[in-house]
Amino acid sequence: MTRTPPTPDALAGHGGHGGPGGPGGPDGPDRSQAIVSLRSASFGYSEHVVVSGVTLEVHAGEVVAILGPNGSGKSTLVKGLLGLNDHLGGEVALFGTPIDHFRDHARLGYVPQRHTLSASVRATASEIVAIGRLPHQGWLGRANQEDRRIIAESLGVVGLDDRADVDVNTLSGGQQRRVLIARALAAQPEVLIMDEPTAGVDLASQEVLSQVLGKLARRGATMLIVTHELQAVRDVLTRIVQLNGGRVTFDGSPARYAQLQGVPANGHNGHHHDDDDVQVQSTSQAGPFDHLNQSAGGRGA
Ligand code: ADP
Ligand code: MG
Repeated sequence: MTRTPPTPDALAGHGGHGGPGGPGGPDGPDRSQAIVSLRSASFGYSEHVVVSGVTLEVHAGEVVAILGPNGSGKSTLVKGLLGLNDHLGGEVALFGTPIDHFRDHARLGYVPQRHTLSASVRATASEIVAIGRLPHQGWLGRANQEDRRIIAESLGVVGLDDRADVDVNTLSGGQQRRVLIARALAAQPEVLIMDEPTAGVDLASQEVLSQVLGKLARRGATMLIVTHELQAVRDVLTRIVQLNGGRVTFDGSPARYAQLQGVPANGHNGHHHDDDDVQVQSTSQAGPFDHLNQSAGGRGA
């Protein structure tokens, strides 16, 4: 089987993919099931390359945090996956289809950075979430009972079932962010890509958002989460990809990441790691995890 078609339960983890049998299983990653596959990929704006030489695969069931300082290219990378900027080099495939031919964007759910709803939007939470159903309704499609069920369920996942009929203007920034996550969920994507979902909202909302992410992860959702707030997603992560200067400088397990970070906050690591640096992904021969295997030299924190 080469792909799992979108199903109402795909993100809810009932689709039979992902989970512990996914990447890193006894037979290694099943390449035919890569949701995202990048080989020496570059993205940017017009001619301006921002992210380059990125080689990585994301498989069903993975929860990947994308870390990196401001301006390191995190948003550019995820927007590149969505076709929202320019693909400037290398190979990019989504669900096995080269990105230039990929049309099935409903399979990718996206919650953009710093996005809340404009104050001029006059709509209820469920009306906003209903937008997520549009890709599943044909021309002049109307929401049917199934759509309404999915809209309600999506609001339930983010803990806003009791706000379905409330004007989104009356919701807090954190609640609006949750509405936007619900909108993405309502489209029943097979992967949810979120750009700093917990940033810029109050602490209480951050807490709720991280619970939402945890709930989604436990249901088997595949997620790429750009974040600075590792703490908020710590419990659900299966993998960390770190960018610096538009290149991948780390790709591996949270445990390994913590090991390598087991250093004072000044960032100076008194230990020697040859490839704590950027060169790792600069050759197309390097597998996405090769550098980790090399650097595993074992530094306890
Ligand atoms: P991050 O999300 O890690 O903070 P970004 O991907 O937003 O980083 O930005 C990386 C670099 O790309 C920055 O130097 C930024 O100026 C540049 N950049 C971002 N968006 C655009 C754009 N729309 N046009 C041109 N350059 C951009
Ligand atoms: Mg960003």
